[in-house]
Amino acid sequence: MGKVTGFLEFERLDEGYEPVQARLKNWKEFVITLAEDQARDQGARCMDCGTPFCNSGCPVNNIIPDFNDLVYRGDWQGAIEVLHQTNNFPEFTGRVCPAPCEAACTLNVNDDPVGIKSIEHAIIDRAWAEGWVTPQPAMARTGRKVAVVGSGPAGLAAAQQLARAGHEVTVFEKNSRIGGLLRYGIPDFKMEKTHIDRRVGQMQAEGVVFRTGVQVGAWPKGSKVTNDAAETIDAEALKAQFDAVLLSGGAEVSRDLPVPGRDLDGVHFAMEFLPQQNKVVAGDKLKGQIKATGKHVIVIGGGDTGSDCVGTSNRHGAASVTQFELMPEPPEQEDKPLTWPYWPTKLRTSSSHEEGCQREFAIATKEFIGGTGKDKGKVTALKTVHVEWHDGKMVEVPGTEREYKADLVLLAMGFTAPVAGVLEAFGVERDGRGNAKAHTEAVGGYSTNVDKVFAAGDMRRGQSLVVWAIREGRQAARAVDEYLQGASTLPR
Ligand SMILES: Cc1cc2nc3c(=O)[nH]c(=O)nc-3n(C[C@H](O)[C@H](O)[C@H](O)COP(=O)(O)OP(=O)(O)OC[C@H]3O[C@@H](n4cnc5c(N)ncnc54)[C@H](O)[C@@H]3O)c2cc1C
Ligand code: SF4
Repeated sequence: MGKVTGFLEFERLDEGYEPVQARLKNWKEFVITLAEDQARDQGARCMDCGTPFCNSGCPVNNIIPDFNDLVYRGDWQGAIEVLHQTNNFPEFTGRVCPAPCEAACTLNVNDDPVGIKSIEHAIIDRAWAEGWVTPQPAMARTGRKVAVVGSGPAGLAAAQQLARAGHEVTVFEKNSRIGGLLRYGIPDFKMEKTHIDRRVGQMQAEGVVFRTGVQVGAWPKGSKVTNDAAETIDAEALKAQFDAVLLSGGAEVSRDLPVPGRDLDGVHFAMEFLPQQNKVVAGDKLKGQIKATGKHVIVIGGGDTGSDCVGTSNRHGAASVTQFELMPEPPEQEDKPLTWPYWPTKLRTSSSHEEGCQREFAIATKEFIGGTGKDKGKVTALKTVHVEWHDGKMVEVPGTEREYKADLVLLAMGFTAPVAGVLEAFGVERDGRGNAKAHTEAVGGYSTNVDKVFAAGDMRRGQSLVVWAIREGRQAARAVDEYLQGASTLPR
């Protein structure tokens, strides 16, 4: 519970950032983790509120008051033990989670919430530095074999839990490196990839086998989804070789904008642009990287992916960066009595926005305009219109059409569904949105219509968050363990 009077004595202290001009020169993380005494004071702000809404606001149900208290008391080793009980990878969430727990914090009713995410970040970074994060191989082996398809946070969390339950786990990943969107979506400046490599090392020591560059099932022709696979494994072969299969292949099909001019050069999905840069940072030599250097960049889509395109474009040295959002500009402050403890709609300004970006709200793109002469076939401008929303319907505002100069357009409007080929190959039924159909109830959760085939993460729930993927991976692991053993001691 921290210190009884802590919330009266200490103000919230957010993590600092390196100055913009310094951080724009490289791809490194720039968040400055709280020092020990700062984290102690922040932990002290946790009140004895009785019903910790933060705990249910956190999708993995981190036991937040307990680790806050342990940090306040200086027991950092105890704090990481508590954190690891519910979260396999706090170094991922401590960096990229939007922290719905903080929206739910009781102190947030009429004050600034406890800085839970920054405390989580400080605990796990210290734990790695002290050597407290070590492999935990199973005491006994079950002899049962599980295939996990996809190595994003859902697949990794499931694989770690299943290996610790004693199963032989093999993770199949079509791309050349492990991590899913943590590796190829989220830029290094938000999360350096050594964090994934370190966990992969831990999991290998726990017995998990990783097979990269291996695609499971069919792949649709012409797909623009990143795929480095040099080898394909048939769904039936996989089912024959393993006692259970978990599909955690994400929801990788980007939402398109099929307006006139979509085929012009210079109009790309965000997920063509971002993975290339992450590969370059990893040392890959690419032919023809999409670069924003010296260009007028328009990012269409106001979410996390769009924000990552802004940060990447600025690091490339773009001439200008403008981000479009279809929805109207939200209020700067939420109406707390109305929204608490839920996630409020409010204007969110990311560190990438702070690095330089013009933001336009309630704007729709009607056309991509191509150039003439040497610019023939290339995008040079966008035709837009302002929109209003009436009863959930979008209406164009007459007389608001205008053109924006653009040499590079990045489509970051979210993801519609998983790549269908994988689910079709296994004969897995899909829900109305094209995701793998499986519920999350305690009994029969995460199982699909196909015997021994389970699904979790974005592939089951649609595009979401890292913390939700970890939750689903953990819960699906328990479901698979129950299927294989009849009962499970893994936590749900
Ligand atoms: C640019 C971007 C930024 C984001 N930023 C944030 C953020 O800041 N915070 C946050 O919480 N969330 C963020 N997200 C969302 C988050 O990354 C995802 O919700 C999360 O990674 C989903 O995890 P997953 O394991 O379900 O799937 P994924 O991470 O998508 O992993 C799926 C993996 O399966 C592999 N795969 C797919 N099909 C096959 C096949 N047939 N054979 C073999 N392998 C296959 C894929 O290659 C991929 O590696 C972001 C997403 C994007 C795109
Ligand atoms: S995982 Fe996210 S929601 Fe949960 S405690 Fe950490 S920051 Fe909060």
